[in-house]
Amino acid sequence: MTLKFVLLTMICVAALAAAQNQDFSKVDIKVTKVSGNIYMLQGAGGNIAASVGEDGIVIVDDQYAPLADKIAAALKGIGVTDKPVRFVINTHYHGDHTGGNAPFASGGSTVIAQDNVRKRLETGGKAGIPKAMERDQPAAPKAGLPIITFENDVTVHLNGEDIRALHFPSGHTDGDAIVFFPKANVVHMGDDFVTYGYPFIDVISGGSVQGIIAACDKVAAQLPADVKVIPGHGQTSSIGDVKEYSAMLKETTTAVQGAMKRGKKVDEMKKEKILAQWDAKYGKGSITSDLFIDTLYNSLTNNKNAPFVKHN
Ligand SMILES: [Zn+2]
Repeated sequence: MTLKFVLLTMICVAALAAAQNQDFSKVDIKVTKVSGNIYMLQGAGGNIAASVGEDGIVIVDDQYAPLADKIAAALKGIGVTDKPVRFVINTHYHGDHTGGNAPFASGGSTVIAQDNVRKRLETGGKAGIPKAMERDQPAAPKAGLPIITFENDVTVHLNGEDIRALHFPSGHTDGDAIVFFPKANVVHMGDDFVTYGYPFIDVISGGSVQGIIAACDKVAAQLPADVKVIPGHGQTSSIGDVKEYSAMLKETTTAVQGAMKRGKKVDEMKKEKILAQWDAKYGKGSITSDLFIDTLYNSLTNNKNAPFVKHN
């Protein structure tokens, strides 16, 4: 196993397997106020958004099971309410965003997610980039399965906010939801927007770069310019950051498309470093230039590995 592969599993793809090797006793949960009554919690795994108010707490994503007690304690520490976490909304099925489902559900929370999140958590299966980076994603325990699922969208009306989870098809996976807090003017993008460099796109689980571009562009067009953006991983960002990221995805897609038209094989694209002009800014994370070429190529050739992919 290469170091890059190990790092990547920590971020996303095989979070459950990685979780077993990670020492969660050393992880602290950092709480940042984002806007109004919306907070961001960071520990290990994906960012958590929390709506904390007199009706109780709603969280978006829940990192790993061994962190659930620390997350609950950090939420209590915000001090606005001693009411429990009533709802957990999952942005997608990966274990670094859903690992805490079972302990939160056991504590009385109701887990909500898009239909395909539940299907994938229930069965487990392969995840990643075909041939380049494949991983087995184990099934989740029954207690960790979402109890309420939706096809297109769902709204939770609590704390004076209409917390809306909206499904965007075939982006990071085929079960992505972006979660809007319109009153506080905050959005949690899940892994459709990340700040660690080239994004990991789970093509095997029905993801595609085209879906991510569509999601980012729709969000950028509809939300106010000053909306606070919580990425799936990384620090809070602006809508300008989302637009810049989407532009990079379009330009790199065009570069791979052009190479394909010229009859280039994937290995030749890598040898010729066709993404060189973006690598300095985006190629230093866990998804290298070569892995991103694999990702774009697989997105463009419409990989058919995804059994649950659904377009609406
Ligand atoms: Zn993910």
